Amino acid sequence: MGRALLLLAALAAITAAAFQLANTGGRVEIEVGDTWIGVTFPVAVTLLAVGFLALHWLLQFLGWLGGMPGRRRAARAARRRVEGDVAVTRALVALAAGTAETARIEVRRAREMLGDTPQTLLLAAEAERLAGREDAATVAFKALAGRSDARFLGLRGLLRQAMQREDWAAAQRLAKEAEAVNPGAAWLREERQVLALRTRDWREALALSPPAGPRAALALAASEQEAEPARAAELEKLAFTADPAFAPGALAHAKRLGAAGSARRARAVLEQAWLAAPHPDIAAAWLAGTPEKLAKVKAAEDLVHRNPDHAESRLLMARLALEAGLTGRARGELEALLAAGSADRRAYLLLAQLEEAEHGDTADARAAQAKWLRGAANAQGAPRWRCGACGAEHNGWKAECAGCGTVGRIAWSAPAKG
Ligand SMILES: [Zn+2]
Repeated sequence: MGRALLLLAALAAITAAAFQLANTGGRVEIEVGDTWIGVTFPVAVTLLAVGFLALHWLLQFLGWLGGMPGRRRAARAARRRVEGDVAVTRALVALAAGTAETARIEVRRAREMLGDTPQTLLLAAEAERLAGREDAATVAFKALAGRSDARFLGLRGLLRQAMQREDWAAAQRLAKEAEAVNPGAAWLREERQVLALRTRDWREALALSPPAGPRAALALAASEQEAEPARAAELEKLAFTADPAFAPGALAHAKRLGAAGSARRARAVLEQAWLAAPHPDIAAAWLAGTPEKLAKVKAAEDLVHRNPDHAESRLLMARLALEAGLTGRARGELEALLAAGSADRRAYLLLAQLEEAEHGDTADARAAQAKWLRGAANAQGAPRWRCGACGAEHNGWKAECAGCGTVGRIAWSAPAKG
């Protein structure tokens, strides 16, 4: 509304000025030599205005003509960008579909249109890898690694390649470089852990292990690699505190404490480990300084007093009681195992021994022995060190399974029934 009023006012003013000009009269004369031009004043003003407009349009036209090549170039660049983007999309689709040759063709087109950008270089590398041309992929990854804006991408690709061809030295160097470019990247952490496990650098693997990882096993493995006794002792302590149920860690920690003169602390560690997860080796370490048979029974009672009903506690007490000639005590423990359904082959074999100890070499004893031996044949086998990944059995604990290469999965466990 306001603008309409303004326009109306402007029109009125122009009309008034035109009338004023027409009424003013007068003339404009130009005389050059013999030529004489004379027009009335309103016509002269109109001619001046028309001339000004014509000049303005002419200059605009000339400017438009001058900008023509630049506009052509911009239009061409825009077209190339659009075509390049289309090629990038097609290359991505081909990569996702696993059609290597299509991917390579589209990537080449994208590089023609867009040049070597981080995106096209990365796509080129992935397409070459898909086509099995690792050398060509390496060239693209190296080009990426040479750019300040895409260095991590390039190093990541080169690291993956190095790990694939199991060139651990190169992989470690690349991982270090990548870590410097992008510290704390989650992906890199995982790769470095894989690398540490493959190169058996247990200390590094432990440092990179997630809280849920096999920290106790890695700590003990690292302590075995450690030449410095103080650092080895620290790692053994860590193995024990990370998992008191991990018998090898507790044994190593207790042994080191005992050697350093802290016999009381060593015994506390063994006691805690037995409470967490009884293992025959813990009992062996506990009883190592007690040669006398009856004294062994007493000493074992001290070890198992917090979990006397555990199958391993009962087995230990039965064996020691039998060796000390306390057959009644041994029978009590073994029958409790039978009643609880937790008697394994070891319990049946002890029962067979017990018959002979109680009744000597008699027909009754032999018949009873035969019964227990049949029971032993059908009973659950004794626990063994077994790989949780492949099931392979091992004579002792090791950090790495020789069967499948898995680290930190060998545990003391009963065999599968049947
Ligand atoms: Zn295994």
